[in-house]
Amino acid sequence: METSVAVKHRYEELLFFAACVCNCWGLCLCVCVCLEGRTCRRGGGGGMRMGSSWRWQLSRAMRLALRWCRLCRPQRGGGRGWGSKLWISGKFLELWSYSKLLLKSLYFNSLSNSDTLLDCAFEPVYWIVDNVTRWFGVVFVSLVILLTTSVVVIIYLFVLPTILGTYPVYWIIWHLCCGHWLLVMVVFHYYKATTTSPGHPPKDKVHIPSVSVCKKCITPKPARTHHCSICNTCVLKMDHHCPWLNNCVGHFNHRYFFSFCAYMTLGCIYCSISSRDLFLDAYGAIERYYQTPSPPEDLSETTSHKSILFLWVLTSSVGVALGGLTLWHVILISRGETSVERHINRKEIRRLREKGKAFRNPYHHGRMNNWKLLFGVEKRSHWFTRVLLPSSHLPNEDGIIWDCNFNRTDPMAI
Ligand SMILES: [Zn+2]
Ligand SMILES: [Zn+2]
Repeated sequence: METSVAVKHRYEELLFFAACVCNCWGLCLCVCVCLEGRTCRRGGGGGMRMGSSWRWQLSRAMRLALRWCRLCRPQRGGGRGWGSKLWISGKFLELWSYSKLLLKSLYFNSLSNSDTLLDCAFEPVYWIVDNVTRWFGVVFVSLVILLTTSVVVIIYLFVLPTILGTYPVYWIIWHLCCGHWLLVMVVFHYYKATTTSPGHPPKDKVHIPSVSVCKKCITPKPARTHHCSICNTCVLKMDHHCPWLNNCVGHFNHRYFFSFCAYMTLGCIYCSISSRDLFLDAYGAIERYYQTPSPPEDLSETTSHKSILFLWVLTSSVGVALGGLTLWHVILISRGETSVERHINRKEIRRLREKGKAFRNPYHHGRMNNWKLLFGVEKRSHWFTRVLLPSSHLPNEDGIIWDCNFNRTDPMAI
């Protein structure tokens, strides 16, 4: 295989031949003109003759030059060999270098690089994805409201009458209290999580403690702040953009989001356990519909059975899926990390480990303190009033300045 140096030499050789051809061409023309001048001076022939002789000399010179060029060029047919390949590769290299130069001239300046070019190239794709996600957010929120409402309606219509008719009083009281408490908590936290702004860095204040500048908002970015491409703004202590809330999960609605996930999981588990017996009955009844001869169908009974089947399948599957997500957030909160920081910290741990150093998360204040900070628990009674009951209190921090004191063991009063 030929090296790039050899190809370059061959290319230079071709250029040399081209220069020779040009020189010969010029020389032939000079000779023709001189001969013509001599003929004119000697014979003094008519203008017509002089003109035709000049043209003849020129055409002859051109024919000779072209023939010489053909001799220099690689032969076709049998000439698809070494020379032909070199000529093509030379041309290809020339084209390649021109393309590279053109490409660099398109995007190059002292502040940009190939990442900027890639970003620009993929901008339409990002735009489509972001907009689709934004629209899907509306669909997902409608879906959550629709499914939650359908579950509540089924419980009120089919499950609660059975509980009231068959269960002892203490169980009835338990179901009424527990069910309604979970319902209130789910509705409250979902409403707050979707409608509360996650918090954004102030755009009018320039002198805020920041770690970098957002390339898209062109504003200072405080610690733990990240840009959300779907909301198209920077979000304080950004966790992730949640399509089920159609909102970003950040500093001011992180607690609402987590409480919604936790209470929704508890609610789903509660519904699936409470309706388990009814589900087994309904399943048996539906199986009997497909037997031959099928029993006489009662519309209200069939509706009840199918609704309970739907309720149990939905609550069980959502309970498992949302339970997994809630568990993941329990781990993250216990470590004092957000979902975004988890990825960043993982990379940092690997990088420092290679250098023989250990990474320490500056926002981790101990497991219990992380939970207290999230729920805004400042005294014992807050565990009841702020965690187990609906509460609209704001977080202690402003989301811009963070306490990164490693020595702190207990930031709260208790
Ligand atoms: Zn931004
Ligand atoms: Zn967002």
